[in-house]
Amino acid sequence: MPKIIDGKAISAQIKEELKQKVSELKQNGVNICLAVIQVGDDPASSVYVGNKKKACAYIGIESLSYELPDSTTQEELLKLIEELNGRKNVNGILVQLPLPKHIDENAVIHAIDPKKDVDGFHPQNVGALCIGQKGFVSCTPAGIIQLLKRSGIEIAGKECVIIGRSNIVGKPMALLLLSENGTVTVTHSKTKDLKEITKRADILVVAIGKPKFITREYVKEGAVVIDVGIHRNENNKLCGDVDYDDVAPICSAITPVPGGVGPMTIAMLMYNCVESAV
Ligand code: NAP
Repeated sequence: MPKIIDGKAISAQIKEELKQKVSELKQNGVNICLAVIQVGDDPASSVYVGNKKKACAYIGIESLSYELPDSTTQEELLKLIEELNGRKNVNGILVQLPLPKHIDENAVIHAIDPKKDVDGFHPQNVGALCIGQKGFVSCTPAGIIQLLKRSGIEIAGKECVIIGRSNIVGKPMALLLLSENGTVTVTHSKTKDLKEITKRADILVVAIGKPKFITREYVKEGAVVIDVGIHRNENNKLCGDVDYDDVAPICSAITPVPGGVGPMTIAMLMYNCVESAV
Protein backbone atom coordinates (compact mmCIF):
# COMPACT_ATOMS: atom_id res chain seq x y z
CA MET A 1 0.00 0.00 0.00
CA PRO A 2 1.20 3.56 -0.64
CA LYS A 3 2.41 5.98 1.96
CA ILE A 4 -0.45 8.38 2.70
CA ILE A 5 0.98 11.87 2.89
CA ASP A 6 -0.70 13.37 5.94
CA GLY A 7 -1.24 17.07 5.23
CA LYS A 8 -3.17 17.51 8.45
CA ALA A 9 -0.25 16.31 10.59
CA ILE A 10 2.39 18.20 8.58
CA SER A 11 0.39 21.44 8.62
CA ALA A 12 -0.10 21.05 12.40
CA GLN A 13 3.67 20.63 12.79
CA ILE A 14 4.32 23.81 10.75
CA LYS A 15 1.75 25.75 12.76
CA GLU A 16 3.42 24.65 16.02
CA GLU A 17 6.80 25.87 14.72
CA LEU A 18 5.25 29.18 13.71
CA LYS A 19 3.48 29.59 17.06
CA GLN A 20 6.83 29.24 18.77
CA LYS A 21 8.44 31.77 16.42
CA VAL A 22 5.58 34.27 16.89
CA SER A 23 5.93 33.96 20.66
CA GLU A 24 9.68 34.68 20.39
CA LEU A 25 8.99 37.66 18.14
CA LYS A 26 6.47 38.98 20.68
CA GLN A 27 9.08 38.78 23.42
CA ASN A 28 11.24 41.02 21.24
CA GLY A 29 8.37 43.48 20.82
CA VAL A 30 7.37 42.36 17.30
CA ASN A 31 3.64 41.84 16.77
CA ILE A 32 2.24 40.48 13.51
CA CYS A 33 -1.01 41.68 12.03
CA LEU A 34 -2.86 40.39 8.95
CA ALA A 35 -5.67 42.39 7.32
CA VAL A 36 -8.26 40.08 5.75
CA ILE A 37 -10.68 41.60 3.24
CA GLN A 38 -13.79 39.84 1.97
CA VAL A 39 -16.14 41.46 -0.53
CA GLY A 40 -19.64 39.96 -0.61
CA ASP A 41 -20.88 36.95 1.33
CA ASP A 42 -20.05 33.94 -0.83
CA PRO A 43 -20.45 31.03 1.63
CA ALA A 44 -17.29 29.19 0.51
CA SER A 45 -15.23 32.39 0.86
CA SER A 46 -16.71 32.98 4.32
CA VAL A 47 -15.54 29.49 5.37
CA TYR A 48 -12.02 30.10 3.98
CA VAL A 49 -11.78 33.53 5.63
CA GLY A 50 -13.05 32.09 8.94
CA ASN A 51 -10.41 29.32 8.82
CA LYS A 52 -7.65 31.83 8.09
CA LYS A 53 -8.68 34.02 11.02
CA LYS A 54 -8.84 30.95 13.27
CA ALA A 55 -5.31 29.94 12.23
CA CYS A 56 -4.07 33.48 12.97
CA ALA A 57 -5.60 33.37 16.46
CA TYR A 58 -4.02 29.95 17.12
CA ILE A 59 -0.55 31.08 16.11
CA GLY A 60 -0.75 34.44 17.86
CA ILE A 61 -1.15 36.68 14.81
CA GLU A 62 -3.62 39.53 15.10
CA SER A 63 -6.19 39.63 12.29
CA LEU A 64 -8.16 42.65 11.20
CA SER A 65 -11.37 41.76 9.45
CA TYR A 66 -12.92 43.83 6.65
CA GLU A 67 -16.25 42.38 5.55
CA LEU A 68 -17.41 44.61 2.71
CA PRO A 69 -20.78 44.44 0.94
CA ASP A 70 -21.12 43.03 -2.58
CA SER A 71 -21.88 46.57 -3.78
CA THR A 72 -18.37 47.80 -2.86
CA THR A 73 -16.82 49.56 -5.85
CA GLN A 74 -13.35 48.82 -7.15
CA GLU A 75 -12.34 52.36 -6.22
CA GLU A 76 -13.46 51.84 -2.61
CA LEU A 77 -11.57 48.56 -2.37
CA LEU A 78 -8.40 50.05 -3.85
CA LYS A 79 -8.65 52.96 -1.41
CA LEU A 80 -8.82 50.54 1.55
CA ILE A 81 -5.80 48.62 0.22
CA GLU A 82 -3.87 51.86 -0.17
CA GLU A 83 -4.68 52.79 3.42
CA LEU A 84 -3.58 49.34 4.69
CA ASN A 85 -0.40 49.55 2.58
CA GLY A 86 0.47 52.68 4.50
CA ARG A 87 -0.23 51.31 7.97
CA LYS A 88 2.97 50.33 9.76
CA ASN A 89 1.16 47.97 12.15
CA VAL A 90 -0.29 45.90 9.26
CA ASN A 91 2.21 43.32 7.98
CA GLY A 92 0.08 41.35 5.56
CA ILE A 93 -2.95 42.08 3.37
CA LEU A 94 -5.14 39.29 2.05
CA VAL A 95 -8.05 39.87 -0.33
CA GLN A 96 -10.18 36.75 -0.53
CA LEU A 97 -10.78 35.66 -4.14
CA PRO A 98 -12.92 35.41 -6.18
CA LEU A 99 -14.15 39.00 -6.14
CA PRO A 100 -17.53 40.14 -7.47
CA LYS A 101 -17.52 40.44 -11.29
CA HIS A 102 -17.49 44.26 -11.35
CA ILE A 103 -14.04 44.30 -9.65
CA ASP A 104 -10.88 43.61 -11.67
CA GLU A 105 -8.87 41.04 -9.68
CA ASN A 106 -5.65 41.99 -11.41
CA ALA A 107 -6.02 45.64 -10.43
CA VAL A 108 -6.51 44.54 -6.83
CA ILE A 109 -3.52 42.19 -6.86
CA HIS A 110 -1.35 44.94 -8.33
CA ALA A 111 -2.51 47.41 -5.68
CA ILE A 112 -1.23 45.39 -2.71
CA ASP A 113 2.25 46.39 -1.55
CA PRO A 114 4.43 43.40 -2.62
CA LYS A 115 5.97 43.43 0.88
CA LYS A 116 2.50 42.78 2.34
CA ASP A 117 1.34 40.37 -0.39
CA VAL A 118 1.17 37.23 1.78
CA ASP A 119 -0.75 35.35 -0.94
CA GLY A 120 2.27 35.74 -3.24
CA PHE A 121 0.13 36.82 -6.21
CA HIS A 122 1.74 40.21 -6.97
CA PRO A 123 3.80 40.20 -10.22
CA GLN A 124 6.86 41.35 -8.24
CA ASN A 125 6.69 38.25 -6.03
CA VAL A 126 5.94 35.97 -9.00
CA GLY A 127 8.95 37.51 -10.81
CA ALA A 128 11.16 36.98 -7.75
CA LEU A 129 10.18 33.31 -7.68
CA CYS A 130 10.94 33.04 -11.38
CA ILE A 131 14.53 34.25 -10.97
CA GLY A 132 15.15 32.55 -7.63
CA GLN A 133 15.04 35.65 -5.43
CA LYS A 134 13.39 36.12 -2.06
CA GLY A 135 9.69 36.93 -2.07
CA PHE A 136 6.31 35.57 -1.02
CA VAL A 137 5.40 32.29 -2.73
CA SER A 138 1.86 31.24 -3.56
CA CYS A 139 0.68 29.18 -0.58
CA THR A 140 -0.66 25.99 -2.20
CA PRO A 141 2.45 25.11 -4.25
CA ALA A 142 4.71 26.17 -1.35
CA GLY A 143 2.71 23.77 0.83
CA ILE A 144 3.22 20.94 -1.67
CA ILE A 145 7.00 21.39 -1.50
CA GLN A 146 6.76 21.12 2.30
CA LEU A 147 4.62 17.97 2.00
CA LEU A 148 7.25 16.36 -0.23
CA LYS A 149 10.25 17.43 1.84
CA ARG A 150 8.75 16.57 5.20
CA SER A 151 7.70 13.16 3.85
CA GLY A 152 11.30 12.46 2.83
CA ILE A 153 10.51 12.49 -0.90
CA GLU A 154 13.50 13.51 -3.00
CA ILE A 155 12.75 16.01 -5.79
CA ALA A 156 16.21 16.54 -7.33
CA GLY A 157 16.62 14.70 -10.60
CA LYS A 158 13.03 13.42 -10.61
CA GLU A 159 10.61 13.66 -13.54
CA CYS A 160 7.95 16.04 -12.25
CA VAL A 161 4.75 16.48 -14.27
CA ILE A 162 2.14 19.09 -13.39
CA ILE A 163 -1.36 19.00 -14.80
CA GLY A 164 -2.64 22.60 -14.89
CA ARG A 165 -0.98 25.96 -15.52
CA SER A 166 -3.00 28.37 -13.36
CA ASN A 167 -1.24 31.39 -11.89
CA ILE A 168 -1.91 30.27 -8.32
CA VAL A 169 -1.05 26.57 -8.60
CA GLY A 170 0.42 25.15 -11.83
CA LYS A 171 2.90 27.87 -12.80
CA PRO A 172 4.42 28.56 -9.35
CA MET A 173 4.49 24.80 -8.75
CA ALA A 174 6.63 24.38 -11.87
CA LEU A 175 9.05 27.09 -10.73
CA LEU A 176 9.36 25.62 -7.22
CA LEU A 177 9.99 22.08 -8.46
CA LEU A 178 12.54 23.45 -10.90
CA SER A 179 14.30 25.31 -8.10
CA GLU A 180 14.44 22.00 -6.22
CA ASN A 181 16.21 20.54 -9.29
CA GLY A 182 13.28 18.50 -10.59
CA THR A 183 12.92 17.97 -14.34
CA VAL A 184 9.62 19.69 -14.92
CA THR A 185 6.87 19.33 -17.54
CA VAL A 186 3.70 21.43 -17.39
CA THR A 187 0.59 20.11 -19.15
CA HIS A 188 -2.74 21.83 -19.85
CA SER A 189 -5.98 21.49 -21.80
CA LYS A 190 -4.21 21.74 -25.18
CA THR A 191 -1.60 19.08 -24.32
CA LYS A 192 -1.59 16.14 -26.74
CA ASP A 193 -1.28 12.58 -25.38
CA LEU A 194 -1.62 13.64 -21.75
CA LYS A 195 -1.40 10.05 -20.51
CA GLU A 196 1.91 9.48 -22.30
CA ILE A 197 3.40 12.45 -20.45
CA THR A 198 1.88 11.83 -17.03
CA LYS A 199 3.00 8.18 -17.14
CA ARG A 200 6.60 9.40 -17.19
CA ALA A 201 6.18 11.22 -13.87
CA ASP A 202 8.00 10.21 -10.71
CA ILE A 203 6.10 13.05 -9.05
CA LEU A 204 2.68 13.91 -10.52
CA VAL A 205 0.95 17.09 -9.32
CA VAL A 206 -2.68 17.24 -10.39
CA ALA A 207 -4.41 20.65 -10.48
CA ILE A 208 -6.88 20.17 -13.29
CA GLY A 209 -10.08 21.17 -11.48
CA LYS A 210 -12.07 18.10 -12.61
CA PRO A 211 -13.31 15.59 -10.01
CA LYS A 212 -11.64 12.14 -10.09
CA PHE A 213 -10.26 12.81 -13.59
CA ILE A 214 -6.96 11.04 -13.03
CA THR A 215 -7.24 7.26 -13.00
CA ARG A 216 -4.42 4.69 -12.89
CA GLU A 217 -4.01 4.83 -16.70
CA TYR A 218 -2.36 8.23 -16.19
CA VAL A 219 0.03 7.10 -13.46
CA LYS A 220 3.33 5.21 -13.49
CA GLU A 221 3.62 2.39 -10.98
CA GLY A 222 5.47 3.69 -7.91
CA ALA A 223 4.85 7.40 -8.64
CA VAL A 224 4.18 10.03 -5.97
CA VAL A 225 0.78 11.61 -6.63
CA ILE A 226 -0.19 15.02 -5.25
CA ASP A 227 -3.86 15.88 -5.63
CA VAL A 228 -4.63 19.61 -5.46
CA GLY A 229 -8.30 19.41 -6.47
CA ILE A 230 -11.18 19.97 -4.09
CA HIS A 231 -14.72 19.08 -5.12
CA ARG A 232 -17.95 17.85 -3.61
CA ASN A 233 -19.12 14.57 -5.10
CA GLU A 234 -22.71 13.46 -5.69
CA ASN A 235 -23.01 12.52 -1.98
CA ASN A 236 -21.72 15.94 -0.91
CA LYS A 237 -18.42 14.36 0.21
CA LEU A 238 -15.08 15.98 -0.59
CA CYS A 239 -13.03 14.45 -3.38
CA GLY A 240 -10.02 15.47 -5.46
CA ASP A 241 -8.94 15.58 -9.09
CA VAL A 242 -7.54 12.06 -8.64
CA ASP A 243 -9.65 8.92 -8.42
CA TYR A 244 -8.03 7.96 -5.12
CA ASP A 245 -9.35 4.39 -4.82
CA ASP A 246 -8.19 3.55 -8.33
CA VAL A 247 -4.78 5.26 -8.17
CA ALA A 248 -3.63 4.73 -4.56
CA PRO A 249 -2.82 1.00 -4.89
CA ILE A 250 -0.23 1.62 -7.64
CA CYS A 251 1.62 4.64 -6.21
CA SER A 252 4.42 4.88 -3.68
CA ALA A 253 2.85 7.90 -1.96
CA ILE A 254 -0.34 9.93 -2.38
CA THR A 255 -2.16 12.84 -0.78
CA PRO A 256 -5.77 12.19 0.29
CA VAL A 257 -8.65 14.65 -0.14
CA PRO A 258 -9.49 15.94 2.39
CA GLY A 259 -6.39 15.99 4.59
CA GLY A 260 -3.67 16.34 1.97
CA VAL A 261 -2.86 19.59 0.17
CA GLY A 262 -5.81 21.57 1.59
CA PRO A 263 -4.54 22.09 5.17
CA MET A 264 -1.11 23.11 3.83
CA THR A 265 -2.44 26.20 2.08
CA ILE A 266 -3.41 27.90 5.35
CA ALA A 267 -0.23 26.73 7.09
CA MET A 268 1.87 28.38 4.36
CA LEU A 269 -0.25 31.53 4.53
CA MET A 270 0.66 31.68 8.21
CA TYR A 271 4.30 31.08 7.25
CA ASN A 272 4.14 34.04 4.85
CA CYS A 273 2.55 36.22 7.55
CA VAL A 274 5.42 35.45 9.92
CA GLU A 275 7.93 36.16 7.12
CA SER A 276 6.22 39.52 6.51
CA ALA A 277 7.31 40.63 9.97
CA VAL A 278 10.90 39.38 10.07
P1 NAP B 1 -7.86 26.33 -12.91
O1 NAP B 1 -7.44 27.75 -12.86
O2 NAP B 1 -9.24 25.96 -13.34
O3 NAP B 1 -6.81 25.55 -13.86
C1 NAP B 1 -7.05 24.26 -14.32
C2 NAP B 1 -5.93 23.87 -15.24
O4 NAP B 1 -6.16 22.56 -15.71
C3 NAP B 1 -5.79 24.78 -16.46
O5 NAP B 1 -4.45 25.13 -16.68
C4 NAP B 1 -6.33 23.92 -17.61
O6 NAP B 1 -5.70 24.15 -18.86
C5 NAP B 1 -5.99 22.53 -17.12
N1 NAP B 1 -6.87 21.55 -17.72
C6 NAP B 1 -8.22 21.58 -17.80
N2 NAP B 1 -8.67 20.49 -18.46
C7 NAP B 1 -7.58 19.77 -18.80
C8 NAP B 1 -7.40 18.55 -19.50
N3 NAP B 1 -8.44 17.84 -19.98
N4 NAP B 1 -6.15 18.09 -19.67
C9 NAP B 1 -5.08 18.78 -19.19
N5 NAP B 1 -5.21 19.95 -18.50
C10 NAP B 1 -6.45 20.43 -18.33
O7 NAP B 1 -7.65 25.61 -11.52
P2 NAP B 1 -6.67 25.92 -10.27
O8 NAP B 1 -7.07 27.21 -9.64
O9 NAP B 1 -5.25 25.68 -10.63
O10 NAP B 1 -7.17 24.75 -9.31
C11 NAP B 1 -7.13 23.39 -9.67
C12 NAP B 1 -7.87 22.57 -8.63
O11 NAP B 1 -7.25 22.75 -7.37
C13 NAP B 1 -9.33 22.98 -8.39
O12 NAP B 1 -10.07 21.83 -8.07
C14 NAP B 1 -9.27 23.90 -7.19
O13 NAP B 1 -10.47 23.91 -6.45
C15 NAP B 1 -8.16 23.25 -6.41
N6 NAP B 1 -7.40 24.16 -5.53
C16 NAP B 1 -7.15 23.69 -4.28
C17 NAP B 1 -6.38 24.45 -3.40
C18 NAP B 1 -6.10 23.90 -2.05
O14 NAP B 1 -5.80 24.65 -1.12
N7 NAP B 1 -6.12 22.58 -1.88
C19 NAP B 1 -5.89 25.69 -3.80
C20 NAP B 1 -6.13 26.13 -5.10
C21 NAP B 1 -6.89 25.33 -5.95
P3 NAP B 1 -5.82 25.55 -19.67
O15 NAP B 1 -4.86 26.47 -18.99
O16 NAP B 1 -5.40 25.18 -21.04
O17 NAP B 1 -7.25 25.99 -19.55
